Amino acid sequence: MRTFSKSSKLDNVLYDVRGPVVEEADRMISEGQNVLKLNIGNPAPFGFNAPEEVIHDMAHNLRESQGYSNSKGIWAARKAIMQYAQIRRLPNVSMDDIYTGNGVSELINLCMSALLDDGDEILIPAPDYPLWTACATLAGGKAVHYLCDEQADWNPDLGDIEKKITDRTKAIVIINPNNPTGAVYDRDVLIRIVEIARRHELIIFADEIYDRLLMDGYQHTSIASLAPDLFCVTFSGLSKSHMIAGFRVGWMILSGNKRVAEDYMEGIKMLSSMRLCSNVPAQSIVQTALWGNQSVETYVVPEGRVTKQRDYCIDRLNSIPGISVVKPKAAFYCFPKLDVEKFHIKDDMQFAYDLLKDERVLVVQGTGFNWPENDHFRIVYLPMLTTLQEAMDKLEHFLSYYHQ
Ligand code: PLP
Repeated sequence: MRTFSKSSKLDNVLYDVRGPVVEEADRMISEGQNVLKLNIGNPAPFGFNAPEEVIHDMAHNLRESQGYSNSKGIWAARKAIMQYAQIRRLPNVSMDDIYTGNGVSELINLCMSALLDDGDEILIPAPDYPLWTACATLAGGKAVHYLCDEQADWNPDLGDIEKKITDRTKAIVIINPNNPTGAVYDRDVLIRIVEIARRHELIIFADEIYDRLLMDGYQHTSIASLAPDLFCVTFSGLSKSHMIAGFRVGWMILSGNKRVAEDYMEGIKMLSSMRLCSNVPAQSIVQTALWGNQSVETYVVPEGRVTKQRDYCIDRLNSIPGISVVKPKAAFYCFPKLDVEKFHIKDDMQFAYDLLKDERVLVVQGTGFNWPENDHFRIVYLPMLTTLQEAMDKLEHFLSYYHQ
């Protein structure tokens, strides 16, 4: 009998946020066990709802959203994004430079496919949001990871970036605010990354999907605003800032020096046309969501739900012997460090698996984010405080006896 195996192109793709731990959790849930899921940045299941006005406007526009749109997106959505680009001071952006996508995910894939030839290198942070590594690899490129420094509030290590540039390096990816660390990069660091990119003639890809989820009064700077003479692509969307990940609304903005990227932009346009267009009902709410009342702000003020949940988790984690964690400034993730000597941890996936089996708490191991050591894991602090309390109690109990 003929059997089918997956394409060999997938053999080198690093994308281990799924894998045996999640599969075991799914199996346990299907058996009726109650697993506390701290593994996924999907706000809706945890009681975060889209603003009513957004739901209303999507319903209102449904009848008129049945056909394909312009492959870059409908005018009103792109206009709203264009105005957003103006407020964020992105230089040299015209309506033609804005693309909507079925989430940022689709656009990351598209940009990597349009750019990378076999063996071309792209600098990606470690830890990263692993889709970047997966898409770069699938496109035939080589993901080269530069370190972010936990001692420096998880800012990128500039020396490591410099060290890893070769004559095949085409671009650098900046994820700011960062998933999984929750870091917001210092403006000075961004300026220095721009200097490096300028010196080595790199494209900057800026994934800024959490740019409206900042706490403690921190300000976010779009790196593209500091680089008018470089070609930059900035990504954002509504999945996180508006808690509507399921609607699949993302966009990208090309800015700065477009003369150096004319051919690449042709490639982007070609791939965008090949997928015809992004979900049109979803595009119809971009204007409503981006402007006017921003309900997400109520979550990230000092007494807001996300801030309170973060503070609770960070205090609890830092009080557990053998764990330390840098306080995140944005998004809804933290990336705690484990004392691997104390717990004899050699394999962080085994740690996540054992925690799941013993305590029914699901987290993601640090190596799932292309972190090179087996000494971190990621927690999503979106679940209700009562769930987080239970999860922290269980984690504390687990680490009181765990020895790998
Ligand atoms: N970029 C980062 C840094 C993310 O954390 C995520 C989702 O978790 C995405 C992109 C994907 O977003 P979207 O829902 O727009 O595809």
